[in-house]
Amino acid sequence: SSFTRVDKLLSSMGYGARKDIARLARSGGIVFDQAEILDASSVRIPVNADLPRRMTVAGKPLDPLAGLVVMMNKPLGVTCSHKEAGELVYDRLPARWRRRKPAISTIGRLDKQTSGLLLLTDDGDLLHRISSPRSRLRKTYRVTLARPLDDTETAVFASGRLTLRGDDKPLAPAVLDIISETEALITVTEGRYHQVRRMFAAAGNFVEALRRERLGDLCLHDTLAPGRWKLLSKEEIALVF
Ligand code: URA
Repeated sequence: SSFTRVDKLLSSMGYGARKDIARLARSGGIVFDQAEILDASSVRIPVNADLPRRMTVAGKPLDPLAGLVVMMNKPLGVTCSHKEAGELVYDRLPARWRRRKPAISTIGRLDKQTSGLLLLTDDGDLLHRISSPRSRLRKTYRVTLARPLDDTETAVFASGRLTLRGDDKPLAPAVLDIISETEALITVTEGRYHQVRRMFAAAGNFVEALRRERLGDLCLHDTLAPGRWKLLSKEEIALVF
């Protein structure tokens, strides 16, 4: 493990400026292995997986260290952006996490009116690997349609020959699993703008509700209510690849 100054670590985690952390430490608010760290600018601590269990800040366990992956059940009406007006997915996380460095970002985006499985991370390599078009990550959505499916969509989506209006390349093959006349699961490997909505529009239908349920082999946990989130374990993260 690498050793880092307490004030430097905590300010990178969004706990405040170094002078605020120094003040908190002097008042006994930073505890490591049961002992108060009074001088946050001189003490160095080992930064490793055990640290959040060994340290408390203002009486609470230390936040997760860099390298985190969050699973969120994105609610409707919330935007995957750092700066747009209205409610953002980042507003659902603890407020100080907005000040963390490296910053936490969504892995890909869901439309404001799409719900379901959304991952967020501060791990740039992971973000890059998952979002690269070459990753061909499978994304599965539950779709509720305005009109009955007419039996032609499965073949059209699987063909690899459907070109959406405004695109120059045809879509990669996608798998449609029909659940009922107006409900289906669709699995795509690309992430084009409004892709699933545009695919059904091209098939003469209209998507009334869209919810992402799966990324690779990682399913949205059904105990996670809309708007709630949890940290993923290494094993869960591995399911995405
Ligand atoms: N396809 C869409 O149309 N919207 C999403 O949010 C995701 C996939």
